[in-house]
Amino acid sequence: MTTVAIIAVGSELMRGKMNDTNSTYFARWFENLGMRVKYRVNVADVGSEIVAAMRFCKDADILVTTGGLGPTKDDLTRIAAAEYAGKELVFFPILWKKIETYLKAKNYPIYESNKQQAYLWDGVEVLDNDCGTAPGLFYRNGKQIVVLLPGPPSENKVMAENKLLPRLEKYNIIQGKFFTEVVRTYGIGESGIADLFAANDDGYFELGYYFSIEGYIELHFRRFSDNGVKPKDFDDKVAAYLKILADNKVFYTEDKPIEQVLYETLLKKKKTISFAESCTGGKVSSTFVKTAGVSQVYAGAVVSYTAEMKQKVLGVSADTISQHGVVSAATVKEMAAGIKKITGSNIAVAVSGVAGPGADTDGNPAGLVWFGFDIDGKTEEFSVKLAGMRREQVIQKAVNQIFVYVLLKIK
Ligand code: ATP
Repeated sequence: MTTVAIIAVGSELMRGKMNDTNSTYFARWFENLGMRVKYRVNVADVGSEIVAAMRFCKDADILVTTGGLGPTKDDLTRIAAAEYAGKELVFFPILWKKIETYLKAKNYPIYESNKQQAYLWDGVEVLDNDCGTAPGLFYRNGKQIVVLLPGPPSENKVMAENKLLPRLEKYNIIQGKFFTEVVRTYGIGESGIADLFAANDDGYFELGYYFSIEGYIELHFRRFSDNGVKPKDFDDKVAAYLKILADNKVFYTEDKPIEQVLYETLLKKKKTISFAESCTGGKVSSTFVKTAGVSQVYAGAVVSYTAEMKQKVLGVSADTISQHGVVSAATVKEMAAGIKKITGSNIAVAVSGVAGPGADTDGNPAGLVWFGFDIDGKTEEFSVKLAGMRREQVIQKAVNQIFVYVLLKIK
């Protein structure tokens, strides 16, 4: 498998003044070509340090740098690359003509310092810059391919696509491909899933568990294929893992936002939904409406934060609230009934809980959340204790819990 090192050059990166989006972009770019990114290095605009970074990455098959190709004194990548290759930089008049023509066409001033960009050495292929002045470079340094790209993303993305990719193809450097199946799991942590998979893990997949702040784990089943063809047993192997999830009642979806999965399922089942929210403050609704077309299945929501609102708008009885409190089975049952009466939707959902960080005035602990459902006339209430979570996590988990529950009931 071809390995890649990415070196992002720039003192702004080292000072934390700029995000290194180039490395993230090119990590994905090479991954999509079936290559493994082995090193990602950030280094300042200091010649000796750029050379040191290049030497550190000497065992990668491809070494790519971004930045430091400009005309100013602190643009040192070209000089460092020459030192790394043991070459002398020479002025190339043809290249200078090209740069001059580009600058003239754009009506940019031409400075003596621009000439710096026309220095390279024999055997180097120039990657023309269609979106700026700094040309990129492509050359072999022993067994390694070295590629120097400019810093601005608007320049290096186009250069990678139009100038670098054809060369990687021409020299047969792209070999094999990664195949990845991704699912999202809810209600279980990374280690929980890893434990479930332990007995099945024969090393066939590189398994990846990625935590999302939206309250799910993204599970990656990844395998490299030398010939670029999907392995015959790939799908069966994925299915075996998914069966383990299903057997252990772990809820998962395809790699899509859960609100979109719910929307599509409701559409297919010809059902409408509405929400009566308290502790989630409208987040169930605002999350659900992220998917375009949702009005076909979504009636609306009421955010009833105070007891008074729950009574006045949703018709929760004063007795219920005084006897059971607002965070209770009885209250969410009446909230669900209330929103169903207003909207006439097939499915009505109510949520009332303590987002925290402290307990509520009735003494309910932070993280206690009650849910009430009315699905085609069948009602159910239950609570969860989301202990030890921050306020926004409690809210997010409550939102997910609602989507998961409805999906389980109607699918
Ligand atoms: P130029 O011809 O613009 O001087 P250059 O190759 O010398 O190109 P730099 O001077 O290092 O590139 O960076 C120019 C600009 O490119 C930066 O100001 C920044 O906007 C962007 N840039 C540089 N490196 C990165 C990076 N790693 N991630 C995202 N953007 C970057």
